[in-house]
Amino acid sequence: MTSLYVHVPFCPTICPYCDFHAVRRTRGAVEAYLKRLRADARALAPRLSPLETLYFGGGTPSYLREDELRALLDLGLSLAAGAEVTLEANPGTLNRRRLALLSTLGVNRLSIGVQSFQDRVLRALGRAHRARGAYRAVAEALEAGFRVSIDLILGLPEQDVEADLKAAARLGVGHVSAYTLIVEPGTPLALSGVAEDPDREARALRLAEEILGEAGFVRYEVANFARPGEEARHNLTYWRMEFWAALGPAAASHEPGEGGAYAVRRTNPPLFRWLAGEGPEREAISPEEHVREALMMGLRTREGVDVGVLERRTGLTLWPRLAEPAKRLADAGLLAVRGRRLIPTSRGLDLVHSLVLPFWEALS
Ligand code: SF4
Repeated sequence: MTSLYVHVPFCPTICPYCDFHAVRRTRGAVEAYLKRLRADARALAPRLSPLETLYFGGGTPSYLREDELRALLDLGLSLAAGAEVTLEANPGTLNRRRLALLSTLGVNRLSIGVQSFQDRVLRALGRAHRARGAYRAVAEALEAGFRVSIDLILGLPEQDVEADLKAAARLGVGHVSAYTLIVEPGTPLALSGVAEDPDREARALRLAEEILGEAGFVRYEVANFARPGEEARHNLTYWRMEFWAALGPAAASHEPGEGGAYAVRRTNPPLFRWLAGEGPEREAISPEEHVREALMMGLRTREGVDVGVLERRTGLTLWPRLAEPAKRLADAGLLAVRGRRLIPTSRGLDLVHSLVLPFWEALS
């Protein structure tokens, strides 16, 4: 495995729409977390090749104190030359001193949770920062030489989506993740009455493709836009359903399987059970399940899915079953077919569920 995800679950405040594994820091928790992380990294190291991509997600990894960041970035794992090392950050936790430290510690890409450049939207989302802070953090990160990605949330009722996208396009960042709001049942946001609106969200993503496209970004995944060469290499590992390792509470890996299984997914328990020594839940992925997952993930991307690759990976004969739905979807304008590669069109990316379902049905 040449990719590793490390989950850092601590956040200064918990946003009302949050469905990630995130907790406020409590006395001794970060110290205990780093100790367990180090032990797990030591145990994992023999199964890793030099890492091509290393991703610290959360939570808010940039919220850790300086000595804690030093420990986090020093897990004793070897990196390949030119490795992509990404750290998720919130604008309020970045300043010039912190950026210099992160750079010294080997981070070369920051994924900054901007969400919006409109204060009323940030307030509605319960975010701790305001637009001014977001502009400042992004400018300082670029100045410090990081590759920068920003997260935007699109499609809130009070949001001027066009203004947010134009602001993102002007920033000089190489990557934008433009998520539509997911209102998870039971979150404070859901309880406050905010609801998802698929039409509003589809319009927002189309607008994103138009505005970011004019600024040189390519929509290379349903909700991800990059200037050429600025794609998130780590996330491509997920969308291509390659193998990756994972460390930290609630983190899930996708590792080579044993016996008849194509892969195994190991999912760690949440923080306090993980600190108490509980091991991961283990799920074997059969070759057939791998194909379904690879179609679901790969058809989210502009590069699509090469069915020939899936056949070689799993030893299954797939094309005779997939050729007919592929032709049907191509006739409907959702897909292009080159050899055995299925390549979604922009309309296909908008309607990704309609794209995946016929292939799943053909395989069942
Ligand atoms: S910053 Fe992200 S992970 Fe932390 S509480 Fe907010 S949404 Fe959740």
